[in-house]
Amino acid sequence: MNFDINRIRADFPILHEKMRGGKSLVYFDNAASAQKPQSVIDAVCRFYSHDYANIHRGAYQLSERSTSEYENARAKVSKFFGAPENYCTVFTSGATESLNLVAQSWGWNNLKDGDEILLSEMEHHANIVPWQIAAQHTGAKVVTAKIRHDGSLDMDDFEKKLSSKTKIVSLAHASNVLGCVIDAAKVSKLTKAAGALLSLDCAQSAPHFLDGISQTGADFVSVSSHKIFGPTGSGALIAKREILDSMPPYRGGGDMIESVSWLGTTYRPAPERFEAGTPNITGAIGFGAAIDYIESLDRKAAEAHEKELLARLTDAMQSIKGLRIFGTAPNKVPVVSFSIDGIHPNDIAVMLDASGIAIRTGHHCAEPLMNTLGLQGTSRASLAFYNTIEEVDYFTKTLDHAVSILR
Ligand code: PMP
Repeated sequence: MNFDINRIRADFPILHEKMRGGKSLVYFDNAASAQKPQSVIDAVCRFYSHDYANIHRGAYQLSERSTSEYENARAKVSKFFGAPENYCTVFTSGATESLNLVAQSWGWNNLKDGDEILLSEMEHHANIVPWQIAAQHTGAKVVTAKIRHDGSLDMDDFEKKLSSKTKIVSLAHASNVLGCVIDAAKVSKLTKAAGALLSLDCAQSAPHFLDGISQTGADFVSVSSHKIFGPTGSGALIAKREILDSMPPYRGGGDMIESVSWLGTTYRPAPERFEAGTPNITGAIGFGAAIDYIESLDRKAAEAHEKELLARLTDAMQSIKGLRIFGTAPNKVPVVSFSIDGIHPNDIAVMLDASGIAIRTGHHCAEPLMNTLGLQGTSRASLAFYNTIEEVDYFTKTLDHAVSILR
């Protein structure tokens, strides 16, 4: 395979850190946040060292440089996510802010009593709470489509819940707990036929190079830079320009206005309308650098490598007695949530940590899904293309050993 894992790992300095007791770090918490290649770290450092100034307003060369880098980063994000010409990329602080922007600016102004917002049982709190708030403000109702036993979206139930009352469908493209990926093209076709808009939470699909926007047909796409190897505090809402331009501002302040007077204020079109105040300029530059890095990879090979890691991990875990995996549908990103009979997820995480392995435990900001599964929480191992077969084998061996001690 044309994929030199050692060369790739050399790009990520943190992967060579030693943990307690001199153990090598095995970073399996990528769904929470991904690590950064040196090129992203350098881009941030270079920007602060050579090109930094506030954007858009400065009548001097440095501000022009800074503005042009910021706008270049925006163009990179649009291109990377396959945004068609009639879409616009708004920089936000991350997927959470993007979803809140949609729910507040679009939701509060377009929903009314009797309307429905269709979500699914596997949503992250970031794609639940903003809609609950929008429902409180407007009288609209949140409706949820079920998931099947294998963690996939129950399309029959989705179709049943989708009706002329549905004004927006907002779904995770990939679940941060189950790893399951929805059939976005099919969802989009059904949603459009019902006359509703589609918002996709792509926080977990973006790191795994899944479909571009034109393939999914989503009207709104929310992403976080830190999950795709860029800095924290940066993200994007990529949406149809026509819809964005029909939406009122979400926050007021500098840079988003055309003119301000005591008689009233007029607003600039998107994206500036939604970027009040000084944005996270450096975050956007780092986001762009992360995209440059991903584009330098053989993405097909990276995807194949992730699939191989997932298959090996899933296979090996199945031989551990009492272990149950949540999310077994075939179309998955490399996220494996599991429980082990009679053992608390935190005890597992503590034992693994002693061996240098980082995983996540808890409800993963998806409490309604935990209720559906009848669980308090799970343990979750989530992988990225820089993880190795050796790490997967070490993880399963260490987990097996931990289970034998904890039982
Ligand atoms: N949606 C999903 C599916 C997620 O996994 C996350 C992050 N865990 C978010 C939204 C929110 O992302 P952020 O915290 O970066 O805003």
